[in-house]
Amino acid sequence: VAKTEERNALRFYTPKMHADARRRLKLASELRQALLRNEFQLAYQPSIEMKSGRIVAVEALIRWRHPERGNVGPDEFIPIAESLGLIRQIDQWVLATACRQLMQWDEARLPPLRLAVNVSAGSFGHPDFLQGISQALESTGIPPKRLLVELTESAILRLGEDTQRAMQSLHKLGVAVAIDDFGTGYSSLAYLKLPAVEYLKIDRSFVTGLPGNPNDVAITEAMVAIARSLGLHTIAEGIETEAQHEFLLRAGCQEGQGFLYSRPLPPDEVARLLAPKTTGGKRLSLVPPKRA
Ligand code: C2E
Ligand code: MG
Ligand code: MG
Ligand code: MG
Repeated sequence: VAKTEERNALRFYTPKMHADARRRLKLASELRQALLRNEFQLAYQPSIEMKSGRIVAVEALIRWRHPERGNVGPDEFIPIAESLGLIRQIDQWVLATACRQLMQWDEARLPPLRLAVNVSAGSFGHPDFLQGISQALESTGIPPKRLLVELTESAILRLGEDTQRAMQSLHKLGVAVAIDDFGTGYSSLAYLKLPAVEYLKIDRSFVTGLPGNPNDVAITEAMVAIARSLGLHTIAEGIETEAQHEFLLRAGCQEGQGFLYSRPLPPDEVARLLAPKTTGGKRLSLVPPKRA
C-alpha cells in the first residue's frame, strides 16, 4: 500500500467497512463454487388471494446454505453474483429447479399454483434467458400462463431497449411479467404499457406504514388505482398485520404475500399446506375467507 497517497483515503475507512469489504471478497470466491457444490436451495413463499385467503401462487426465493457461515441472504449475495457475472447461471438454475418443483406438486395433485421467479437485469436481457424459459416450460409441460417473471423496477431502468425486446418475446411465449418492488425504482411509468407486464407488486416499504401513515395510504391507493385502470393485477408484499390485510383488501388489492400468511417455506411444507385433506398436517394461520 502506497502510504503517502492513500493516507487521506484510509482515514475514512472504519474497521467495520474493512471487515465488510473482506467478507464480500471471500463470498465472491465462494460464490463461484456454490453452484457446483449444491449449496443453493429454494424457499417458496405463498401468495394469497385477498378476498378468499386461498393460496393461489408461490414465489421462489433463493437461499444459500453456506457450509461455514450458515445462511447468507440473497440481498447480500445476489448483488455480488451480479457484479461477478454469475447471475445468469444462478437465475437459470432457479428457473429450472422451480419449474421442476411445480411439476412435482402437480403430480402430487396439489391445486394448480402460479409460480413466480425473480430475475436480475443481467439475466433478463440475455438471449439465453428466453431459451431457458422455453426449455423449462417444454421439459416440464407447465402452461406458460402459470409462470410469472418478477423484475424490479430499477432493473428495467438499467436495461433500456433490451427490455422491450425481451418483454415482447416473453409475451409471445405467453409468460407474464410482474414489476417487483413497485414504487421504489425512480423510473418512468412507460413500461406499464408493455403487454407482457400484467402484475404490479407493491413494495413492502409502503405496506409497512399501512393503515396509520397517510403518505403510505395515499401512495398505495394511487398505485392500486393506476394498476386497475391499466388492467393490471396487484400483489402487496410484506403484509405482517391484520390491519394491513384489511386495508389492502378494501383498497382493491387482489393478492398479498407476507409473514401474516406464511414465511417462505421448503417445498415439503408447501405440499403439506396445500395437500387435500392432509392427516394432521400443520396448518398455518391463513386469513379466513371474508363474507360478502
Ligand atoms: P423480493 O423478490 O422483493 O422478495 C421479497 C422479500 O421479502 C423476500 O426476502 C422475503 O423473504 C421477504 N418477505 C416476505 N414477506 C415478508 C414480510 O412479511 N416481512 C418482511 N420483513 N419480509 C418479508 P429474501 O428472500 O431475502 O429476498 C430478497 C430479495 O432477493 C428478493 O426481493 C429478490 O429481489 C432477490 N432474490 C431472491 N431470490 C432471487 C433469485 O432467485 N434470483 C434473483 N435474481 N433475485 C432473487
Ligand atoms: Mg420478488
Ligand atoms: Mg419485492
Ligand atoms: Mg426486493
